[in-house]
Amino acid sequence: MVCMTGIGCSTTQSPSQPQPKHRVNDGSERQDLRHQPMDVVELPKPSVSITIEGEYRVITTNGLPNHEIGEFPNPSNPNALRSQNKEIRIPLYPTPSSGLIPSAPEFGVALNGVIFDSGTGEFWTVTGERGRSAWNYDASSTNNQGRFGTDFNHAHVNPTGKYHYHGVPTSLLESLAHGHIHDDHAHEMIHLGWAFDGYPIYAPFGYEDPDDPTSEIVGLTSSYQLKHGTRPGPPDGPGNSYDGTYAADYEYIEGSGDLDRSNGRTGVTPEFPDGTYYYIITNEFPSVPRTWVGTPGPEFNRRPPGDAPRGMHQGHPEDNEDKLPGEPLKSTHTQVQSVNPAYFMEDALAAPIVKEERILSDGTTALCYIIRTYSEPHEHEMGPWAPTHIDDDAGKGGIWLQDGEVHDVDGPFVRDIAEFYDDPDWKLYREDGSIRVTDTKEAFEAAARPNVDPKYHNYVVEGRPEWIDRNVFVYVIPVHPIYQTEPTLLGRAGGPRDDRSDVNANGRPEGGPPPRGNRPDGPPPVRRDGQGSADQHQRGGTEITALGIAFNGVNFDPPAPVDAILAAHTLAPFDDAGGHINPHNGYHYHTVTGHTKEIVQHDGHAPMIGYMMDGFGLYAHANEDGTIPNDLDECGGHTDSIRGYHYHAGAAGENQIIKGFRGIPGSMTVGQE
Ligand SMILES: [Zn+2]
Ligand SMILES: [Zn+2]
Ligand SMILES: [Zn+2]
Repeated sequence: MVCMTGIGCSTTQSPSQPQPKHRVNDGSERQDLRHQPMDVVELPKPSVSITIEGEYRVITTNGLPNHEIGEFPNPSNPNALRSQNKEIRIPLYPTPSSGLIPSAPEFGVALNGVIFDSGTGEFWTVTGERGRSAWNYDASSTNNQGRFGTDFNHAHVNPTGKYHYHGVPTSLLESLAHGHIHDDHAHEMIHLGWAFDGYPIYAPFGYEDPDDPTSEIVGLTSSYQLKHGTRPGPPDGPGNSYDGTYAADYEYIEGSGDLDRSNGRTGVTPEFPDGTYYYIITNEFPSVPRTWVGTPGPEFNRRPPGDAPRGMHQGHPEDNEDKLPGEPLKSTHTQVQSVNPAYFMEDALAAPIVKEERILSDGTTALCYIIRTYSEPHEHEMGPWAPTHIDDDAGKGGIWLQDGEVHDVDGPFVRDIAEFYDDPDWKLYREDGSIRVTDTKEAFEAAARPNVDPKYHNYVVEGRPEWIDRNVFVYVIPVHPIYQTEPTLLGRAGGPRDDRSDVNANGRPEGGPPPRGNRPDGPPPVRRDGQGSADQHQRGGTEITALGIAFNGVNFDPPAPVDAILAAHTLAPFDDAGGHINPHNGYHYHTVTGHTKEIVQHDGHAPMIGYMMDGFGLYAHANEDGTIPNDLDECGGHTDSIRGYHYHAGAAGENQIIKGFRGIPGSMTVGQE
């Protein structure tokens, strides 16, 4: 029997959920229950959302596991699974408390919305009746499996129907590690969830050197050890040898394992590259920590001892009396993930990434990462772009995007372009077969400007890295992206700026100031309302300078204004990585072709390739198995339980990396080094 009184487990229950036929509130009904298990009812789909609201991480969950579970009720557990209705608010910025705070019954929540319970409500008593004593039956002990009916996830169901973990959540861990578990550990630390004091919870393995993310991943052990000898006999204790049946069978011996009294330690993690305190769910006692080192949210502090947890709101945001005053709820209940600066390649950075309060494009202030790069790729070459002879093969040229297709810009493509565009005015080569390519800095600048110098009509426009200044690109990206129900949609190709509008996005006269850069104190430049032409853009006054940034520090640009380029019978090819150069803003990408640093996702999801200016992650177009998500919104993004809201890049041939911002973008400016 499990958690009979609700002391050991939450008794929180939604008023709207179906009531169990036999509700249990005290031990007197115990026998009853054993013989009349709760009815199994039809359950909704598991649902969880994790959002940032003010200074809180808000987890809204129905508590239903998203993985296989054991059978409930079972002979050792009469309880049937029920949907819960919880809104849990935990501090976004954890603060250490002056002493350890007992965390029972509920310690934290897994990323799938299932709760981690610290202790149980079952105690040995001298009379055998229900009550409390120093001898708390421990659900993490295999000795007690018959008592608690735990399944292969070290989890079980309490009388309110709440499925909860008392140890390593095996199925969840396997899915988060995507089966990459060998010898009980994966090749990376696995983030499992959040403790209610705000610190993260990890799987039972971590870096051998807690401060070195390149050190080996090893199993981490608690510093609790079984006591030697026998327990006191009645009336002081249950007698017999210390075998782990009771939590009190263990003692903390500092330094005997890797972890501290709260089963945690401080170090770097993939999610916290600058270091954090974190908890470990160990394979051995205590499995789920029994104390918090940080201060839990105010609701948890108010909890009277032995009462049900009060951190659980019964469902509706308007019930949150502790909502920060004056803090508008910008986010909907969609999970968001913070930006991880460690993903950026060290070579890409002109300076270390710093965090500062900055103004976003909507005028609000937010904590932002300031990322300074040179916008030069390090993992691939720049170019080639233009072939020089109509006999050249694809290795001598780059690519061109048309109607969603990627075309190699080889000699024959250039030769046949009049046919390709069904326009006899095209002729990009001379009688001897040589191709007209801008081969000086001056020619490039004259051909790349919006009013193309007539001398360079029918030219392939190519800018070379040696012709441009080495600029520092300053990206301001919100640390915690803010999900907006109303997205900011972007224009289609021919829109705000680029290549030649890179030179002159606002229709400035030749020789005018470049559209981005040189105005560190100016209004935030990343934002354009609605869709439309460069003309509208000019009137609108706001301007998009970058959609986002690859992990190599190169920016993702809005669509190239292909129509304008073609109108002057010029071609401005991209290299195989989807990038090219413009005179003022250097090298940038217009499409994603898989040539840049990727962060592999362990569940087969498309790899991560960068961040957009609103702080949401950008992932490749297709998943590992080639499938393409079918639920993308008008911006090109969607939400899943692991990555939260994120974008998928448009197909390589699309000339459009994302279609809009779901969050509030920061800014990007360019200044000479
Ligand atoms: Zn329990
Ligand atoms: Zn461009
Ligand atoms: Zn996705």
